[in-house]
Amino acid sequence: MNYIIMDLEWNNAYLKSAHCFVNEIIEVGAIKLNEELEITDTFSQLICPVASKKIRSRIKELTHIENEDLEDASAFKTVMDDFADWCGSDFLLLTWGDTDIRTLISNYKFFGRKQDVCFIERYADLQKYCQGFINMENVQQAGLSYAAECLNINPDDFPHHRALDDSRLSGECFRKNFVAEKLEKYISNCDEEFFEKLAFRPYYISNRNDPNVDSKVFNEFCDICGGAVQKKKNWKYMNHSFRAVFYCEHCDRLFRVNVRIKKLYNRVDVKRNTAEIVKLNVDTEE
Ligand SMILES: [Zn+2]
Repeated sequence: MNYIIMDLEWNNAYLKSAHCFVNEIIEVGAIKLNEELEITDTFSQLICPVASKKIRSRIKELTHIENEDLEDASAFKTVMDDFADWCGSDFLLLTWGDTDIRTLISNYKFFGRKQDVCFIERYADLQKYCQGFINMENVQQAGLSYAAECLNINPDDFPHHRALDDSRLSGECFRKNFVAEKLEKYISNCDEEFFEKLAFRPYYISNRNDPNVDSKVFNEFCDICGGAVQKKKNWKYMNHSFRAVFYCEHCDRLFRVNVRIKKLYNRVDVKRNTAEIVKLNVDTEE
């Protein structure tokens, strides 16, 4: 089995046919490691963009890819067919964070053939895997350079930020941390559900009657005494949350309830909290 570490560069462009912005892949870089973790081959190809021929200046700065470089490049389908052939049949694909694989899947959707299914069979997020080796309690998602430094790898030895350079740097992080049994836990089989899950975008629910919402989250009670309350302001949706104001006679307290409901792929995340409202006309005189 081979390990393939892939990195993509993309340009953010408006795709007229889909009426939305997409991260259009303009370069695929990858290294292939054998079971001894030796680099046996590399892949590096530019892709001629369809949505926009103009590369954003930030992307140019970051990748050193110029508009002219892409003129003679091949189409997405051609490059991906070449890449699939290059990957072979028995491999584990790794990327640093899941953004690259999400982008790959969305590009298959927008620029691939209809019914095209990504050729990947097994995948692992290298960033998640490496984070287990670095002590980073407060860092949710370690940037590649930062992680490399933590692992005593000098990112300046891999300087150009082109896709192949970044895959080499990710590969170095992988080699330094390779523990087969640990890696096993991070490997997913790329079945239909895997692709669906990656294509899913979490969102905040803005309708109280949404079938994903358990109406109990809007129960009206005092969270201190548990008693009944009077509704002072009706439920209103703002800043991704439902808000209402209540008064508890028993506790003599006025409070706001805030309910935020987020739809994730296979569950609904509910955050309900209350905040006291200070009454301005409090009796301070005896
Ligand atoms: Zn109360």
